[in-house]
Amino acid sequence: MSYLSGLECPRCGEKYDALVLQNLCSCGSPLLARYDLAAIGKAVVPQEFSHREPTLWRYRELLPVDGDPVTLGEGWTPLLPVPRYGGHIGLPNLLVKDEGLIPTGSFKARGAAVGVARARELGATHIKMPTNGNAGAAWATYAARAGMKATIAMPLAAPTITRQECLAAGAELRLVEGLIGDAAKAIADLEGVFDASTLKEPYRLEGKKTMGLEIVEQLGWRVPDVILYPTGGGVGLIGIHKALDEMRQLGWIGARGPRLVAVQSTGCAPIVRAFQQGERRATPWLDAKTVAFGITVPSPLGDELILDALYSSGGTAVAVDDDEILADLRDFGAREGLMLCPEGAACLTAARKLRATGWLSPHDEVVVLNTGSGLKYPGTV
Ligand SMILES: *Cc1c(COP(=O)(O)O)cnc(C)c1O
Ligand SMILES: [Zn+2]
Repeated sequence: MSYLSGLECPRCGEKYDALVLQNLCSCGSPLLARYDLAAIGKAVVPQEFSHREPTLWRYRELLPVDGDPVTLGEGWTPLLPVPRYGGHIGLPNLLVKDEGLIPTGSFKARGAAVGVARARELGATHIKMPTNGNAGAAWATYAARAGMKATIAMPLAAPTITRQECLAAGAELRLVEGLIGDAAKAIADLEGVFDASTLKEPYRLEGKKTMGLEIVEQLGWRVPDVILYPTGGGVGLIGIHKALDEMRQLGWIGARGPRLVAVQSTGCAPIVRAFQQGERRATPWLDAKTVAFGITVPSPLGDELILDALYSSGGTAVAVDDDEILADLRDFGAREGLMLCPEGAACLTAARKLRATGWLSPHDEVVVLNTGSGLKYPGTV
């Protein structure tokens, strides 16, 4: 049984019924899922999770799904100490959470598994979404697993493998010239189909928040000092922040939180620009372009929520160059053996720079999210 109590708008406070399919608040903000945390606190203690299955469904009480999960075994990815690379950049306590081991090869599977399961139990039979590749691949895959139809639109420049994944899962694929916003226009006409675009439905975020739960459980119900996250739509960052907040309210962790860092490419850095100017909202980035395709989001819908997570956690935002991302990807692989995705490598570049400026200290325990498998981007090395 789910402890979901409703949906709430973080901007205007409006409440929405969680028992029917919902998209955005009437004010335009994404909606957040709220739970009966008092009841969850009585039903489960953190130590109990260690006896459960090694997937994100181990956190059932903090997920919105009532009935059967839709699963391919996603979640519970390794949190790897990387002392050789970490020592080299002056961060001996560096850890990489490797989301490359997840079905579909990216952490998008977390959001897709939970989002599809919830959409199905609320009556959706067909979903649509624009994507930079990995989200479409994951939602197409989980829609097939759930017996649902999917229509996916993506830029022609998205990684080829993600197109092939959509087709392999039997989805209808629309390829468009341009960026993710142009892909959105290509499916706008499709009526009567549930819109599962980034943050336009509230449950993808719930799937992605399990990264935060896992990091804390894997450290023995303790938080690291800093988490670096490659930020596109920002769902993972907002999700980790939300998970930390829920664990804090449950008394499972203390008041001190990790500082959250949004990492972007200098080719598309709307959040970094807004953060540096102390703004609460971001303005669209023109002419976005980067090798870290998963973070090419010129105008993220969750900008307010991302910036709030950075400000309230005492974090920061950093933009890094493509050539440095690629150099760090190779350097890391040679020292640790793991082939990161460019988005994950961007976080190493950011960690290196933050150490050099003194924002990170040698004692800091720093977690970097490698959001996908390097094997999905064979052209980067
Ligand atoms: C989508 C994606 C990101 C960005 O994720 P958000 O949660 O939308 O910010 C980062 N890395 C990879 C590999 C992705 O596919
Ligand atoms: Zn609202």
